Amino acid sequence: MQLKIGVIKGDGIGPEIVAEAIKVLRRIEQVYNHNITYESLLLGGASIDACGVPLTEETVFQAKKCDGVLMGSIGGDPNSSAWYQLEPDRRPEAGLLKMRKELNLFANLRPAFLYPALKNACPLREEIANQGFDMMIVRELTGGLYFGKRSTEVINGVLTAKDELIYQENEIRRIAIRAFEIARKRRGKVCSVDKVNVLDSSRLWRKIVTEVHSDYLDVVLEHMLVDNCAMQLVKNPADFDVILTENMFGDILSDEASMITGSIGMLPSASLNESKFGLYEPSGGSAPDIAGLGIANPIATILSAAMMLRYTFDLEQEAAAIETAITEVLKAGYRTIDIMSEEKIQVNTVQMGDEICKRIEKTYRMER
Ligand code: NAD
Repeated sequence: MQLKIGVIKGDGIGPEIVAEAIKVLRRIEQVYNHNITYESLLLGGASIDACGVPLTEETVFQAKKCDGVLMGSIGGDPNSSAWYQLEPDRRPEAGLLKMRKELNLFANLRPAFLYPALKNACPLREEIANQGFDMMIVRELTGGLYFGKRSTEVINGVLTAKDELIYQENEIRRIAIRAFEIARKRRGKVCSVDKVNVLDSSRLWRKIVTEVHSDYLDVVLEHMLVDNCAMQLVKNPADFDVILTENMFGDILSDEASMITGSIGMLPSASLNESKFGLYEPSGGSAPDIAGLGIANPIATILSAAMMLRYTFDLEQEAAAIETAITEVLKAGYRTIDIMSEEKIQVNTVQMGDEICKRIEKTYRMER
């Protein structure tokens, strides 16, 4: 298969962790006989340094010509980096927001998975952590409260702030379709989260999700109020498969879900548009405090590359081979410093990438 991937190395630890993800992809190419070309793209601080702006039209143009984009995190230390002396719309993060908008990336996928080998890092009670969990949060990313009109003005002598929450049925339908499709590739369960007892937008959300479900009757659908979902995530996380929700609820719930895995360096994410195109990146930031030390955990970025293989290229076996390799590496006791615990083997960024690559070949041989 011939694939073209845009690569944004990013800032801080970005280049170090992206290098390991590319190394793993190259091993997948060799082992499974694919041909991937990599197009280097600039975004964020690196783009400010090279071009004066966090995102150029040229980068958007080149990104659109790729099948998918793999990105390390962008940004620097807001307290010391010169990038943060610039106007807000010229800072690194402005480039990322513009990129998401230009590419119409409306579906944000954030898995939260507890590796058995890392369950000690889970802050939940032992009997809950022992059950493990494996969920995917599918969050609507381009509508709702964060994109409505907002204002602060004096009305009848009182300072008043307004934020508009709008959802159109087509915006709900397309994200619901995405969630049901993803559930079909997983354990076949969607929990749609809303606040139907209060909000009109939630009543429309529930109506449209229920309508879409009629085309996916092989998938089990349940509806849950957002306040209940926030509680169930810490009480019974093993119960969730796919959580489908709107922009703001998804923002909050996905951070809660990532917290209960106990390790930010392990969490990938994807943002997809109507076609199979996606931007894949680790959930964490650019970690300027450890940049250049060669100790960052590359697993979230490597898992983001696996998500790209699964969701953009439909290469399920290859994606699973990466995930299995990571599980095996953790089982064998290898740890970067952020997930290090007693009696484990501490490795640096490059060594972690090497250990994962070794086990990809092993998985491939076992499949044969
Ligand atoms: P951060 O996630 O970069 O770092 C928080 C802590 O987690 C730090 O101690 C860091 O060392 C550690 N950490 C993060 N990723 C790690 C990894 N892979 N391996 C080991 N340790 C890791 O959050 P922050 O310090 O608040 O933000 C730093 C910069 O990143 C800021 O400029 C912020 O705007 C940016 N940021 C970018 C994105 C993105 O590109 N999507 C997301 C979040 C933050």
